[in-house]
Amino acid sequence: MTEPTRTTCPYCGVGCGVLARPDGTIQGDKAHPANFGRLCSKGAALGATIGPEGRLLYPQIAGARASWSEALGLVAKGFKDAIQTHGPDSVAFYVSGQLLTEDYYLANKLMKGFIGSANIDTNSRLCMASSVAGHKRAFGSDTVPGQYEDFELADTIVLVGSNLAWCHPVLFQRLAAAKAKRPGMRVVTVDPRRTATTQIADLHLGIRPDGDTALFNALLAEIARRGLIDQDFVAAHVEGLETSVASARSTPKSDGLTEQDRNAFIDLWCRSERVVTLYSQGVNQSAYGTDKVNAILNCHLASGRIGRPGMGPFSMTGQPNAMGGREVGGLANMLACHLDIENETHRQAVQDFWNAPVICQKPGLKAVDLFDACGKGQIQALWIMSTNPAVSMPDADGVAAAIRSVPFTVVSDIVDETDTARLADVLLPATAWGEKSGTVTNSERRISRQRPFLPAPGEARPDWKIIADVATQMGWGADFCYASEAEVFREYAAMTRLSRDFGRDLDLTGLSGLSDAEYDALAPVVWPVPETGHQGPRFFADGGFYHANRKAKMLPVEAPAHRRSEQGLILLNTGRVRDHWHTMTRTGRAAQLNAHLAEPYLEIHPEDAARIGLLPASLARIESPQGTAILRVMISTRIAPGQAFAPMHWTAETSSAGRVNTLVAPLTDKVSGQPASKSQPVRVTAFGAAWYGFAASTEQMTPERPYAAVARSDTGWRAEIAGCKTPHDWVGEARAVLRIDTGTASLSLDSARGTARVAIAHKERLLGLFFAATEPVAVARAHVIALIGTETPADVALAGVPGMDRPDPGAIVCACKSVGINTIKAAIRDGAASVDALGGCTGAGTGCGACRPELEALIARTMPPALAAE
Ligand code: SF4
Repeated sequence: MTEPTRTTCPYCGVGCGVLARPDGTIQGDKAHPANFGRLCSKGAALGATIGPEGRLLYPQIAGARASWSEALGLVAKGFKDAIQTHGPDSVAFYVSGQLLTEDYYLANKLMKGFIGSANIDTNSRLCMASSVAGHKRAFGSDTVPGQYEDFELADTIVLVGSNLAWCHPVLFQRLAAAKAKRPGMRVVTVDPRRTATTQIADLHLGIRPDGDTALFNALLAEIARRGLIDQDFVAAHVEGLETSVASARSTPKSDGLTEQDRNAFIDLWCRSERVVTLYSQGVNQSAYGTDKVNAILNCHLASGRIGRPGMGPFSMTGQPNAMGGREVGGLANMLACHLDIENETHRQAVQDFWNAPVICQKPGLKAVDLFDACGKGQIQALWIMSTNPAVSMPDADGVAAAIRSVPFTVVSDIVDETDTARLADVLLPATAWGEKSGTVTNSERRISRQRPFLPAPGEARPDWKIIADVATQMGWGADFCYASEAEVFREYAAMTRLSRDFGRDLDLTGLSGLSDAEYDALAPVVWPVPETGHQGPRFFADGGFYHANRKAKMLPVEAPAHRRSEQGLILLNTGRVRDHWHTMTRTGRAAQLNAHLAEPYLEIHPEDAARIGLLPASLARIESPQGTAILRVMISTRIAPGQAFAPMHWTAETSSAGRVNTLVAPLTDKVSGQPASKSQPVRVTAFGAAWYGFAASTEQMTPERPYAAVARSDTGWRAEIAGCKTPHDWVGEARAVLRIDTGTASLSLDSARGTARVAIAHKERLLGLFFAATEPVAVARAHVIALIGTETPADVALAGVPGMDRPDPGAIVCACKSVGINTIKAAIRDGAASVDALGGCTGAGTGCGACRPELEALIARTMPPALAAE
């Protein structure tokens, strides 16, 4: 067997080390300090996502294959013409936290230093811009002070707006392991809904949406009342204490909590010198996100609990290289190396370093404003790199229309059939994970290498090379002439000398002299990496903040007034599921990742479901002024009355009506420009389906019915469907859904039960199975999928459930070991009273461990009371 390549997972901000082989074998890298060998279900399934299917292999112009030279020439001309006629601010780049640092660096250099505009923004704007803005307001720089090991060293961990168990599973596993070793550790979750993460919590605070500022202001007021202000630290290093405490004292208790819960939290926080407050999208994706961040930072600054082992605020980023993008100036309001656009000296230094003809003079358009400007005809040429804004942006339909209206749109990506790629005039094929080479920075400022272990398919090129090629075609070849990504990295690392000389945090000068071989072998390293005198991995234990007076600023922050929804409206919270990443262009290829949650859904409280008339597994229509979605109903007390949750992963490729960002208004935080994606008022009604269906096929099905969600399965494709009119010809309907027009069809109709079932076989081999009913279809889906491709007789297959000799495993809970819910429940009923016991008899939870919170919840729900009491 060939030696594996050491690389880094391309999904979340944990930044796990991966050992990868060209045959798709994937293992966690035990030597990587982020994960020490662990991987979550997404990371473990990376091998299933690297095939050639769906890849964009050649440049395309207006949908037709073109040569690189034709495509690059056209892109350069499109941008040059727009700049010449309408000025540099008439063009824009929308880039991605999926890009490597070297890609990001050159995109930023081209736009800000050569085109002369700052109209480059990134999908990281949707992820953590409020944290960046909060850091800059408090610290004077965008600095994450702590390290992952602080989660293991802390006595109390507070997880605010973070479903760590699903969104950063390996960190969650590290936390769970630390708590198991040190049971005295306390975990608090602060979240309007109960999630898999809540399973580990000693205390769950189900705050009102956007109640975070009120909660942390109450904490600050109590820190002051109890005399817990670190007077020495504050006197030496912090300003703004008095006004912040005064503001906190006058804040109404509008967090939606009981006195008892609030006091329990405050008491725990105050008693724990070693306390980490980790926050994520639930804090950031808000119209008040920056204030929420500063409310958290205020508490750590006032108490001096920052920068020492086991304590501090910690912003958890969503994307694999959101941090790298921040470092090289990938946001429209920043320069490279954490320098400020508004600062003339900084601008001049950056221009001089690049020997650039111009430099942007003001911040550019942030994501929402950028697409707004597209829709208003202000952007003449747009380049979207490695992201899918027609799905992921708020008001996704409006954004798609805005992109369509831009006279010249370029998309560079690894796949050719995304909702955004369909809107492009020019498509440029980029290399994917496993093919590309560069660096990423994770949430603890650790730089790791992504290394290639596969050849680039077709004519795909690295993003940094595409950007350099376009710059060359635009006339700046001498300034974009790089032999390798290592050369780009050296230039960037050398540029951080500017940051150091301006007294800023970001210093990679110690890496600026790496040879190609040293760059290739670079081990994961936490910045700063100065040439001499390394200060250690944490910031601010002894002050040294980055405002001009070297002090941190506490800011008085007001809690937003409690917004009451219009009568009957539900507040929609959007987010992620455990086994999918963003718009599923990669995770959707792995059948095992589709088995956990195979369709988009709306999680809603039983009281609201009863009021609206929603039944379990029925369909709901969700409407806002922006758009409409139709989602499967999941009734649950994990969500509070008046609220609902829906995942954001489904696209027009995978669902007919599951794009939840079509519902979200483009409302943003006024400081950070980050959209508020977690509190959209929506109207929910029952969707009147005449029939519901489930289908499994050897062929790729498409989401064409009023409700449809398709996904890859182990034997082909699976689909959940529903229609508004009962078909007269069920066989014809089945063939259309299954996309099979050959073979022999067998039909089973039961008009008393309102069911229709169709099997299609060719030479006795089952090609497709179709089940329809007037109510949500109750068949054993895993069993039905497993029958495809077998020679099971049609009458047996149409039963839709396995015989007594083959129990139905049910929907998959443990993706790594393919263990279904029925198997798990049966084992619990047979006496498996702990997650480890379940692992022993079923294997569930013994892979990546991401399902362990769900297993605990199942044990709590399924175990007979007598057994539970023992
Ligand atoms: Fe990848 Fe999972 Fe690690 Fe995130 S936690 S980096 S998705 S393996």
